[in-house]
Amino acid sequence: QVETLKAKLLEQAQEISRLRSEQGGTDAEKHRDLLAAENERLRQEMKALEGELRELQRQQQAPCRDCPHLQENARLQEQLSQLQQEAEEMRAKLVELDLEVQQKTNRLAEVELRLKDSLAERAEEEERLSRRLRDSQETIASLKSQPQQIKYIIKTVEVESAKAKQALCETQSRNQYLQEQVGMQKQVLKEMEQQLQSSQKTEAQLRAQIMMYEAELERAHGQMLEEMQAMEEEKNHAIEEAFSRAQVEMKAVHENLAGVRTNLLTLQPALRTLTHDYNSLKRQVRDFPLLLQETLRSARAEISQAIEEVHSTNRELLRKYRRELQLRKKCHNELVRLKGNIRVFGRVRPITKEDGEGPEAANAVTFDADDDAVLHLLHKGKQVSFELDKVFPPQASQEEVGATVHCWCEVGEAATFSSLSCLPQVFQEVQALVTSCIDGYNVCIFAYGQTGAGKTYTMEGTAANPGINQRALQLLFSEVRGKAADWDYTITVSAAEIYNEALRDLLGKEPQEKLEIKLCPDGSGQLYVPGLTEFRVQSVEDINKVFEFGHIKRVTECTNLNEHSSRSHALLIVTVRGLDRSTGLRTTGKLNLVDLAGSERVGRSGAEGSRLREAQHINKSLSALGDVIYALRSRQGHVPFRNSKLTYLLQDSLSGDSKTLMMVQVSPAEKNTSETLCSLKFAERVRSVELGPVSRKAELGSWPSQEHLELCPLSSQGDSPGSTAPPGRGHASPSPGQLSSRSASIRRKLQTSG
Ligand code: ADP
Ligand code: MG
Repeated sequence: QVETLKAKLLEQAQEISRLRSEQGGTDAEKHRDLLAAENERLRQEMKALEGELRELQRQQQAPCRDCPHLQENARLQEQLSQLQQEAEEMRAKLVELDLEVQQKTNRLAEVELRLKDSLAERAEEEERLSRRLRDSQETIASLKSQPQQIKYIIKTVEVESAKAKQALCETQSRNQYLQEQVGMQKQVLKEMEQQLQSSQKTEAQLRAQIMMYEAELERAHGQMLEEMQAMEEEKNHAIEEAFSRAQVEMKAVHENLAGVRTNLLTLQPALRTLTHDYNSLKRQVRDFPLLLQETLRSARAEISQAIEEVHSTNRELLRKYRRELQLRKKCHNELVRLKGNIRVFGRVRPITKEDGEGPEAANAVTFDADDDAVLHLLHKGKQVSFELDKVFPPQASQEEVGATVHCWCEVGEAATFSSLSCLPQVFQEVQALVTSCIDGYNVCIFAYGQTGAGKTYTMEGTAANPGINQRALQLLFSEVRGKAADWDYTITVSAAEIYNEALRDLLGKEPQEKLEIKLCPDGSGQLYVPGLTEFRVQSVEDINKVFEFGHIKRVTECTNLNEHSSRSHALLIVTVRGLDRSTGLRTTGKLNLVDLAGSERVGRSGAEGSRLREAQHINKSLSALGDVIYALRSRQGHVPFRNSKLTYLLQDSLSGDSKTLMMVQVSPAEKNTSETLCSLKFAERVRSVELGPVSRKAELGSWPSQEHLELCPLSSQGDSPGSTAPPGRGHASPSPGQLSSRSASIRRKLQTSG
């Protein structure tokens, strides 16, 4: 056991020495010193670098503030400051590490001291133990000699060795603890070495970075210098250029200045006058609103005064105009009365294809170039002349005919009968005609003549070239429209047919029904036809519809329209009823447009049956019409209205102030000359009435062409006006007595005829 203990001790001693060498406290210290020195050196280097950097910065800042490298520089500076900061950090770390190393070394010294102590203790112990061992060996030896004693001694040794064992254990445990401590120290040392290594590495990195930055700084500096130089050159160049340009410009400016100066000299007087003008204008402008207001006020006053004047003049004029209008109407009626209210016109149609060819279709009618009222007919080699109120040659247009028809109402101007030349007046007087119908007078227009002479053409016309009917109505409508401000007008239309002395309604539901003409039960002597359809019309379109309707009626009833129409009288009766809204005055005027039956002498050589009866009826009615017109025109006391249905129906439109136009149609063809002769004779008979002494006066008054011839008889009769005149149509307004006597006679006749 002692041997093993000794060996263990030796081992431990060896271990201790090894540990001491391993610890190498002095090595660590050396290393630390080295590091510190290195650190110091780096610090100095850094300082030097910083100084350099500052110098560089100063240089950079001074020469070029606007240098593009400033940015770069700033960036670099930033990096540098960053690096500096890093270095600072590193330095701090280093200091920390230094501190740690110091601590470690202190601890190490402590441990060493303690180790020395424990080693000394151990040596002491060893010595003590070896002494005791020697003592014990001696005692053993002595004991050996004394075996009993030895046994006892062994026993004591055994007891003592237990103590030694305990002490050994203690030292062993201590040894272990120390070993542990040494291990720990070793570890710490290793860590420190590692840290040192890493710090060295970072240091190397930092140094490399610093080198890099330095190089970069150098480069930047070089570049900067170069650029500065280039810029300097550029600047110099630019300055030179600018200088030269400025010189040139300066010269130009000088020149300009000289020009401007001269200009200024000349402008000064102008400026003076301008300022003067300006001032005066300013004054004017200042005064202008006042002036304007004043002018406006005066102008307004003047205008209103003028308006007032115009107004009053207008009123006066209107008053005068109304009076004149009244007067004119009165004169018009008086003149018409003096002239006679019946006119006979002739119209010659052109030669048509239906007339055929050869001598039969030759023209037998000629006209007087100077007198449009004369017509010559070549009949059986003899020329017969007729004088009518007006003759229309074949080339006369519908318009002309229509215009002249209206024109005949024209009173003031005899010249209006020369058709086209007086068209403007015609239209003026067209209004006069319609005015007379609108004013409440009755108008009759007849178309007389043989079949094919152009009656229907004159009255109705064609669609493209309408006749009197439509033109008169058109005018009527436009007139009514013109007077719509003061008057309310109702225009109604009836269409009737007289065939074989039977009156039939062409617009009614039962056209076959025969209508009767009756006397108004109110005792006014007016006639009316109960059951005759009346259509209210408001435009020409309405009229056209009515015409169409009537035509259809006629067509559906007759197998041969033309034949039928040539044997019947067609009447279109337009009634115009007016109401003057201001005065309440009512007027009723009638416009009768009659397309008469053919006037040809049928069956002279023995017609029979219906043909004979038709011919008789036509003959009768036409001759009755002739008689009536004759009686009216010759102002006879008795007018045979009742001799035919036609004259009876138109009684109120033929008598009184009524206006009648007989349009005698003739054919110019050679083959028709005998009929033409008859028609013209009829016309002349109607027109050239045997005038009685009194009616003659009126007649002559109406014909200026005859006036001078008949002046003496007229003046000789002037002493007793109206003394011997029979009551007739010559009187514009028959006295109540005359009216009542006539109606009384009508009533009497009606009574006798049942
Ligand atoms: P009526 O009615 O007298 O029997 P119409 O009016 O039917 O005669 O006329 C017979 C023919 O002559 C028709 O074809 C018509 O177009 C033509 N006619 C009549 N008058 C004229 C005229 N002034 N201009 C041209 N053609 C006419
Ligand atoms: Mg006809």
